[in-house]
Amino acid sequence: MILLTSDTETKPTQAMRQAIANAEVGDEQKGEDPTVNKLLERVADLLGKEAALFFACGTICNFVSIKTHTRPADVVLAEHMSHIIRAECGGAALSSGVLMEPIASERGIFTIDAVEQALGRVTTAPYLYSAIPRLLCVEQSHNFAGGSVWQLPELREVCDFSRQKGLATHMDGARLLNAVVATQTTAKDFANCVDSVWIDFTKGLGAPMGAVLAGTREFISEARRYKHMFGGAMRQAGIVAAGCLYALDHHVERLQEDHDSASYLARRLSEIEGVTVRDTKPDTNIVFFDVSKLGLNKGMFLTLLQEHGVKMGAVGQSIRAVTHLDVSRSDIDFAVDTVAKVTKFLGSAVIKAERQDIYKLENVVNFAISSR
Ligand SMILES: *Cc1c(COP(=O)(O)O)cnc(C)c1O
Repeated sequence: MILLTSDTETKPTQAMRQAIANAEVGDEQKGEDPTVNKLLERVADLLGKEAALFFACGTICNFVSIKTHTRPADVVLAEHMSHIIRAECGGAALSSGVLMEPIASERGIFTIDAVEQALGRVTTAPYLYSAIPRLLCVEQSHNFAGGSVWQLPELREVCDFSRQKGLATHMDGARLLNAVVATQTTAKDFANCVDSVWIDFTKGLGAPMGAVLAGTREFISEARRYKHMFGGAMRQAGIVAAGCLYALDHHVERLQEDHDSASYLARRLSEIEGVTVRDTKPDTNIVFFDVSKLGLNKGMFLTLLQEHGVKMGAVGQSIRAVTHLDVSRSDIDFAVDTVAKVTKFLGSAVIKAERQDIYKLENVVNFAISSR
């Protein structure tokens, strides 16, 4: 099975497992795990921040960061398709009791004007009645916008402006290192634009678990209390941190291969009749496309694709394919051929099924499979 559902599909390599097996460990909760501490130093240095904190995953980094930056009833500005708004179960509302003010954009990247308009909406009423805007969140790269990347000048401009307006700034940097490799900008330069930032080790970096949040010493010490409160403290977490360290040493530069594979995939998919690729030259490792032009239901399409050995995912009305460590160029070729085959086949099956008055989705899928 070729897994293009997400770059979280990566399995730890033998060498990474070896590093994990050999990890020196201690009590993370007490700050005494040597491997975790080594990782925190590495990431704080990489991001040019004073301090860092280890978490099991990225979602809780956002959860705790928003809590640390805000007070209940504050307003958090974030892009309208951001992971924080769309894919974290409304966690910011639970952890922090904040109002989200979505900023609309085409590609996940927005301008000073958009921030100014959002602030204008938040402060429509006099101060006595308005909620207080406190935090701006950016996502680098932007997942649901197709792995799109903030260039350094546009990021700096938006963050500087937000700071001038009294907002704290936070970066969901789940795939920050993809953006670093794609733009040849240092992680430090991107991170320097914001007060807090985290990176995920379970996406393209290929570790089984782990994310690291970084910021000022004061921010991290406050965040550490919330991490503990929400059950995020661990014990011998060096077992996990060793995989993250291994990923930093071996899996960063190779992200370029994933980007090249994604561009190749996007271009080849765009050559298939009836397939509409959102961006034929994706910034990083995420490709969005749709097959609705053919009158195909995306669920049907995905089921059949899987039947033929290729798994992709759906985000909204689109299909998403993500390249990563565990997909080779020949896997991509196989995936493209499969999309072409399924598209062609399903197109004619749908016509046949309609002729027989089969309307229910699963009937159409079964019909399509049985008449293959
Ligand atoms: C995956 C992802 C997260 C959440 O990270 P987990 O480690 O899966 O909890 C947050 N933001 C973005 C942009 C992501 O892609």
